[in-house]
Amino acid sequence: MADVVRVEPEGDVAVVVIDNPPINASSLSVRAGILAAVEAAAADPAVNAVVLIGAGSTFIAGADLKEFGQPLADPQNPAVIAAIEACAKPVVAALHGAALGGGFEIALGCDARVALAETKVGLPEVTLGIIPGAGGTQRLPRLTGIPKAVELVCKGARIGTEEALALGMIDAVAPAELRAAAVAHARAMIGKNRLRDRPVPDASPEAIEAAAAAALKAGRGRPAVRAAIAAITVAAETPIDEGLAAERAAFQELRTSREARALRHQFFAEREAAKLPGLDAKPRPLARVAVLGAGTMGTGIAISSLDAGLPVTLVEQDAAALDRGRARISDFYAGRVARGALTAEAAAAREGRLTPTLDWDSLGEVDLVIEAVFEDLDVKREVFKRLDAVARPGAVLASNTSYLDLDAIAAATSRPEDVVGLHFFSPANVMRLLEVVRGAKTAPDTLATGLALGRRLGKVSVVSGNAFGFIGNRIYAAYRRQCEFLLEEGASPAEVDAALEGFGFAMGPFAVGDMSGLDIAWRMRQSTAASRDPSHRYVTIPDRLCEAGRLGRKTGAGYYRYEDGKRQPDPATVAIIDAARAEKGIVPRAIAAEEIVERALLAMVNEACLLLGEGVAPRASDVDVVLTNGYGFPKWEGGPVFWATERGAAMVARNLDRLEEASGAGFQRGDLAAIFAAEPV
Ligand code: NAD
Repeated sequence: MADVVRVEPEGDVAVVVIDNPPINASSLSVRAGILAAVEAAAADPAVNAVVLIGAGSTFIAGADLKEFGQPLADPQNPAVIAAIEACAKPVVAALHGAALGGGFEIALGCDARVALAETKVGLPEVTLGIIPGAGGTQRLPRLTGIPKAVELVCKGARIGTEEALALGMIDAVAPAELRAAAVAHARAMIGKNRLRDRPVPDASPEAIEAAAAAALKAGRGRPAVRAAIAAITVAAETPIDEGLAAERAAFQELRTSREARALRHQFFAEREAAKLPGLDAKPRPLARVAVLGAGTMGTGIAISSLDAGLPVTLVEQDAAALDRGRARISDFYAGRVARGALTAEAAAAREGRLTPTLDWDSLGEVDLVIEAVFEDLDVKREVFKRLDAVARPGAVLASNTSYLDLDAIAAATSRPEDVVGLHFFSPANVMRLLEVVRGAKTAPDTLATGLALGRRLGKVSVVSGNAFGFIGNRIYAAYRRQCEFLLEEGASPAEVDAALEGFGFAMGPFAVGDMSGLDIAWRMRQSTAASRDPSHRYVTIPDRLCEAGRLGRKTGAGYYRYEDGKRQPDPATVAIIDAARAEKGIVPRAIAAEEIVERALLAMVNEACLLLGEGVAPRASDVDVVLTNGYGFPKWEGGPVFWATERGAAMVARNLDRLEEASGAGFQRGDLAAIFAAEPV
């Protein structure tokens, strides 16, 4: 038997211990080990029951990442589970930490599941573009009923012990001593209690239909969601062996799909992102944070920190703004309680960790300050000067600036080594992305502390160099510029948005512009107008819209007109666009959706190459993490770099030639070697 699995007899109970650190992944040796241990226990007359338990901090938390996307060697999970089910003696899974994916499927194959409080269970396969392939879609509905199983599997939900107990996914919660509780549970079990023999609880066709429709909508109809619904909904009508065979076939097919490859790429890219090569400094202590500025971003950052259990000092410049910020945070928690997403006690505990104040001296008590005041260099420099005077030595001073020069902000202090950028996205308590910006003088342990905060807040952190717009906003600006070119050449805002939404973006660029307000970019263009090269191609349409008072949703019109919150094409916009084209002598042409998508995405890819060449983005995969987590790029396409590498260097180079030609003067071309050297074609 492989040494990652050992048997520790406890009287007549064989305790099978899975010891494959760090997460007891279900690698080949683990699968072979469990199979051998269960078969031996089945044959041993001295054994009356079996317990499966993980050593260390978790049960089998999931699959072995090294096996992701590779052909699977035997024995595979279905064979392990078949042996557990075939064993005439009760087999109990003792769960702690996480029991996810194949790990939870093995637990579902056991006769009972006993878990410690705080255990997470679930079948998150759909988030990787596949479905559970070892009976999850057949056994889970036998516990929860079909509608709930559809919901949980299609979301890839990981749920806690309390909910799992209520849904019947676990049988008992162990108060402490998991192993002893599981052994006792196993001894007390009479006969077998196999899930495969249970009927699927009745559900009305309407309830199943409603669950499927909701899951399809939330999962945007992706193939894995459709396959999961199909697999689960047949469970009630099909003998389980047929259901298992159909599930396995769908699983095998999805595993090798392009979508699953893209999602695996995302998964690994996110894991890599926060590990900066060469950064081995330890983070500084992080027990209390402060947020400076209680506006849109400041309150979101405060909520994110409170949710993560951190005490937060919230500082403003005047009482009215502080009250507004405090009220926004209270309203947020009240809303969560009203929706049943949080208990009143939990909400009170979180809000109780907030200290709103106008007193700057209180900033002397915190380990890290995140500044989120107005986007104005002079204001920020003034704020950092004051911070320098009150913050304790060694405190990290962070700025949430979107575009400003971090080094210029740091230079306002006597301690630029303690300054780092923490670029959150709006809403900061929802969006997962955090750009951690490294200034010229940022100390390694300051950077490490920024990354540690990101981890603590559950963010996906990406390190960026200090360049205008960092990684995300700079790539997004290149993309938006290309979309403006398309507009000028003949496409309508609705055509551009529809093409990119068809590709999978949550929202097209012009709808996004209207939502965020067109005036922010307008002000920025005005401030840089003097340094603009007049020979470069410049689209005047956005300026014309702003000059006409069309600043987006907030003024009822921008690229679109808004009626009852719905966007509608607007003849007034058409007139502005027509006039701008006429001024330049452009005869509009019909532009196909394919050209729109190709050019918009290639503009992103080109900018990514420039950023990689300049060293602003550390790795090509980081660009993908930024665009998918912060800008609505569809995860199932892997990110712009993955999208490009999937098409191959030759095709991308050819199309980039065309993009360069179409973009006119001022187009700066990046070197494709930056991505084709880094990613396998
Ligand atoms: P906001 O106008 O909503 O809030 C700014 C707050 O800072 C106001 O409440 C103001 O009273 C306060 N403030 C101003 N000067 C201050 C001072 N000297 N001391 C204390 N408080 C002061 O702005 P916002 O949208 O929250 O943006 C804040 C920062 O976050 C900006 O740097 C912005 O670029 C950045 N950012 C914004 C977004 C976004 O989508 N809004 C996204 C990422 C980053």
